[in-house]
Amino acid sequence: MCIRDRAVKAAGAIIHYLQETQKGVLGQLTRLTTYSTDSFMALDVQTQRNLELFYSSRSGTFGGSLLSILDLTKTAMGGRLLRRWLGQPLLDITELNKRQDAIGWFAENTLARSQTISLLGEVADIERLINRVKGGIAVPRELIALRRSLEVIPKLRQVLESIGWLAEELKPCPEVVDLILRAIVEVPGTLDEGGVVRPGFSEELDSLRQTSKNAKQYLADLERKERERTGIKSLKVGFNKVFGYYIEVSKPNLSQVPQDYIRKQTLVGGERFFTPELKEYESTILNAQDRISELEAQLFRQVCNQVGAELERISASSLALADIDVFSSLAEVAVRYSYVRPKLTTDSEIVISDGRHPVVERSLLDGSFVPNDTYLSNDDAQLIVLTGPNMSGKSTYLRQVALIVLLAQIGSFVPAASATIGLVDRIFTRIGAREDLPAGQSTFMVEMVETANILNNATPRSLIILDEIGRGTSTYDGLSIARAVAEYIHSYSKLGAKTLFATHYHELVELASFLPRVKNFNVAVSEDKGEVTFLYQIVPGGVDKSYGIHVAKLAGLPRSVVHRAQEVLTELEESSRTLAESPRKAKRRPQKPPSIQIPLWGQKSPLLEELEKLDIDSLTPLEAITKLYELQKKAKEGEQR
Ligand code: ADP
Repeated sequence: MCIRDRAVKAAGAIIHYLQETQKGVLGQLTRLTTYSTDSFMALDVQTQRNLELFYSSRSGTFGGSLLSILDLTKTAMGGRLLRRWLGQPLLDITELNKRQDAIGWFAENTLARSQTISLLGEVADIERLINRVKGGIAVPRELIALRRSLEVIPKLRQVLESIGWLAEELKPCPEVVDLILRAIVEVPGTLDEGGVVRPGFSEELDSLRQTSKNAKQYLADLERKERERTGIKSLKVGFNKVFGYYIEVSKPNLSQVPQDYIRKQTLVGGERFFTPELKEYESTILNAQDRISELEAQLFRQVCNQVGAELERISASSLALADIDVFSSLAEVAVRYSYVRPKLTTDSEIVISDGRHPVVERSLLDGSFVPNDTYLSNDDAQLIVLTGPNMSGKSTYLRQVALIVLLAQIGSFVPAASATIGLVDRIFTRIGAREDLPAGQSTFMVEMVETANILNNATPRSLIILDEIGRGTSTYDGLSIARAVAEYIHSYSKLGAKTLFATHYHELVELASFLPRVKNFNVAVSEDKGEVTFLYQIVPGGVDKSYGIHVAKLAGLPRSVVHRAQEVLTELEESSRTLAESPRKAKRRPQKPPSIQIPLWGQKSPLLEELEKLDIDSLTPLEAITKLYELQKKAKEGEQR
């Protein structure tokens, strides 16, 4: 049995189940189509989260996500479609080119774009409305909303005349518009309140309304007539829901009540009466009103059914409106933020010049984001090792490349001066440290599980983003794993994926000297008289400095700690350099004893050991400061010894 036959059987079972359990839902099913996951780029949940497609991972809010920058859609259908596109980038270059053409057209035609955007502002959530019509639960004002939305279609078709294929997807429904226009008043209340159906739509309804109106008029006249007939000036004709219509006479006038008045109700200050004539009009009015409500409900249902017969056409237009909304929104983004149309290819290169991070660039002052180039190729620049201090822009750069590829594969323009994107089948990301405590996994375990997933599933057409590997374990462990992972990605022929690998292990820079497709890059830093400035510029080559102390200083560590750390670092660097130059000489040369015992590799001072074992996360600030005093005391004692 081929896979399609199985799909048909599975769909049949689902429909049967719905029929048995939720009949109403089936009405909303118009057709079944198949799709193959092969035509989409797979994006796992981690990657969606790491790339902050829908939510910012720091704040968990919509703001700060990629979608928050891209979504200038005007309709609910457009908003939903854009979200779907973002979660399902394409691999089909023909379809992508078609999307690019449409976005390009909107980007170039400024007037048409702004007219489209403003017309879309008048369109309601047609998709939801037609489902409510289908389900028989639409209310009168929803038909009006549907009509107003459908009225936009011919206008929009006119605006889109020169992009014929797109205009043609919009199917005008003049009969539906006309029907709703004739049938329903412009500002309808609920069916219970009545007055929903427009005069002139149904003769029967009009005549009932006339009858009811005449009878009401008659009763209004009756009060005047009865006052004249009886001479009771305060006589009133009134109505209440329990007793119906009545003639009310106050106590002092009761003696003047004529013979034909029949008592209906006694009040404190008077009596209420009716007459046979009054009774007759009352029943005319009440019958007419009942019939009016019934008829209005019936006519409304009829109109809904007639609209329902056109639902396929309306549904097609609704899909087209969603497309147009997304195209014009992405074009607006492209123009506003200077994005360009990327060239899409099926070969293995990713070439980006002056690429930018779409979200970070918006959070900085205009023009202060530093653009960077990227060249990745399965043939000669497959794995880029990116070194650089913390906070220098490594993560931003990594994500920026992934986001540009992703944007290109939803058909969007991209934040760069130019870009050629060889389509990728999957983007894998392994970013930052994250505990998954509910699942019982430590940070390091999560990291390794994610890495294993990448190594087991990436293909030569994948793009891998690795932001630090091996951080959650000891230095040597971490370095060994990081290096083995890099070697495997580079050399295991089934993998060979294009990879950006940001690491604080400077040792990985060596890989480039013996692995041909590894290239080193670092984030430039300028140092002037001890002052360090991050330039956010990605330049070729590796670095051997971390500037961690500089970052610690920026973070507000006490000056004495920063100063001391600098001393320790200098001594550490000095001793490892001497050791590298001549291990024997180093031993013989008399040295100023370091004030904290700086160990040679493998020999740790007790103080450092104690420091390493500290579980900082579990300390309260007070415990931490006490511990710091204690460590300092021990250090001072060591100095005196
Ligand atoms: P790292 O990963 O090296 O620790 P990040 O990528 O997190 O650094 O960047 C730290 C901060 O630097 C960002 O929040 C952003 O404000 C700024 N930054 C990063 N890249 C750039 C850039 N290309 N231009 C300007 N500022 C940048």
